[in-house]
Amino acid sequence: MNSDSQPGHVDQIKQTNAGVVYRLIDHYGPVSRIELARLAQLAPASITKIIREMVDAHLVKEAQYAEPGSRGRPATGLVLDTAGWHFLALRLHQNTVTITLRDLSTQTLVEEQHGLPHDGQQPLLAPLTELIEAFFTRHQQRLERLTAIAITLPGLSDNTPESAAHELPLAQALTQHTGLPVFIQQEVSAWTLAESLFGAAFGATEVIQLVVDDTVGAGIICDGQLLHKKGRARVEIGHIQVEAQGALCSCGNRGCLETVVSRASLLRLLSQRLPFHPESLLNTETLSIEALCNAALQGDGLATELITQTGEHLGRMLATLVNIFHPQHILLGSPLNAAATLLYPAIGQALRQHALPAYHQQLQLSPTAFPEPGTLGAAALIKDAMYNGSLLVRLLQG
Ligand SMILES: [Zn+2]
Repeated sequence: MNSDSQPGHVDQIKQTNAGVVYRLIDHYGPVSRIELARLAQLAPASITKIIREMVDAHLVKEAQYAEPGSRGRPATGLVLDTAGWHFLALRLHQNTVTITLRDLSTQTLVEEQHGLPHDGQQPLLAPLTELIEAFFTRHQQRLERLTAIAITLPGLSDNTPESAAHELPLAQALTQHTGLPVFIQQEVSAWTLAESLFGAAFGATEVIQLVVDDTVGAGIICDGQLLHKKGRARVEIGHIQVEAQGALCSCGNRGCLETVVSRASLLRLLSQRLPFHPESLLNTETLSIEALCNAALQGDGLATELITQTGEHLGRMLATLVNIFHPQHILLGSPLNAAATLLYPAIGQALRQHALPAYHQQLQLSPTAFPEPGTLGAAALIKDAMYNGSLLVRLLQG
């Protein structure tokens, strides 16, 4: 046995156990030590030790509560102690950066939005560091112990090797600059994590989330873990071909899913077909996804056809993913959710037609809980790092 591997192994077990206990207190608190030992399947002595460290570090505290059905003295249980711990959640989106100061319960304390002069080629480090420093200076009075910085980045329009090269140094350089651990994740993946931690797929371990908006992307949670959690690989579902001779895509190929269901593609298809549909309500409207959904809900033939066709494309694509990942939940984050009553049956029909029956029967299809993620995606990265113990042990070590 390699003698070096042993301490690492012990540290890993300690980290995992601490994370499990922290998660259980978050879910079930106030909860007694005995109940925690049962839920975590750990020896009471281990629980006592872990809790003592968490209480000493002000991450967990005792709280009195009335046990259901008991008329005696209130019981003492454990709850998270979150107010004294802050983190910074950032979202980079369309040349703006949203900066949110949150406490460890993920509650928002301060939120600001700033322009970000970034054309996809320039390193982000300098402007971002400046914004973060200025934020710290402005809100010095409010800051408690800072634990970490989490950042979500847009995905896939930005997939040049140059921007790839910038991402990792960004985390390292920000860590060097601030002394804080920095977590970075692509936005759709982080949003999917947020939905599984606080949203529409709460507690689910197998989730596929499709985001259909200006671009088309997906996040996948498989066996409780985000797919491509580390590294730069994405679920590039928007660039899978659905029409062999279709329109030219931004990626250079033809007929990608994005060329038929993204916001711009739908509006292009709509304006191409509108001259053949003089009866359509949309002839008197400014074309937008909102107008398309409204018209479909009012029974407009052309709008209904386009929404149904979109549902078929999405359902067919999802069927492939369902056969691979066997999810419990499929979530859709999209302005098209406004026409869910028409879109979802079309998705469902294509899914039933193309996925294995055993795999789609128990499947739940629903809109994301958050119409757009804001900095909740970044907050989810922090929650995840507390639950898996990696950030938690750093805080325990002080
Ligand atoms: Zn493409």
